[in-house]
Amino acid sequence: MHTIRLIYASDAREDLRYRDFMTIMDTAAATNRESAITGILCYGGGQFLQALEGERLAVNALYHRIAKDPRHANCQLLSVEEISTRDFAEWSMKIVDWNDAVTAARQTMLLRHSGSRQFDPAHMSGQQAAGFLRDLAAMERLLTE
Ligand code: FAD
Repeated sequence: MHTIRLIYASDAREDLRYRDFMTIMDTAAATNRESAITGILCYGGGQFLQALEGERLAVNALYHRIAKDPRHANCQLLSVEEISTRDFAEWSMKIVDWNDAVTAARQTMLLRHSGSRQFDPAHMSGQQAAGFLRDLAAMERLLTE
């Protein structure tokens, strides 16, 4: 069995609202659990950045389904790698709204990973996106401790 982590960025549909994220999260949490997929989805500035971890076939199938979803466009693969350890093992899908709390710590972390103060995942490298999501997850864990 091959376990992979896939990271992509996309543009959210302009009229997307908070309740749409909740609908996405409900679907994601339930179906990802069934397929043993874990991950994190960050929304900000009209863009999504999502990491999906799990068995290679399952992650590929999900990514192809997500890429066709009309709630976003311009899906761009940033990285796909084989992994031995999951970075987001405790979450079937964690949703983080970047605009919700742009704290100094978050800004510094974004700047360190992307060289920019703007959340603009479409211009991050795969390595930058992976590091950013790992640190974002660490910050989220601190909040829930
Ligand atoms: P169905 O529910 O049968 O829907 C049929 C089609 O309509 C699909 O193309 C679907 O994408 C689209 N659709 C469904 N609901 C809506 C709606 N409210 N408005 C507009 N179009 C709709 N799903 C997961 O299972 N796991 C994830 O991690 C995940 N992450 C996502 C991240 C983003 C940024 C987005 C936009 C969607 C995500 N989804 C995720 C949802 C995913 O794209 C599919 O909608 C979902 O998996 C159900 O797939 P389905 O083929 O059973 O579609």
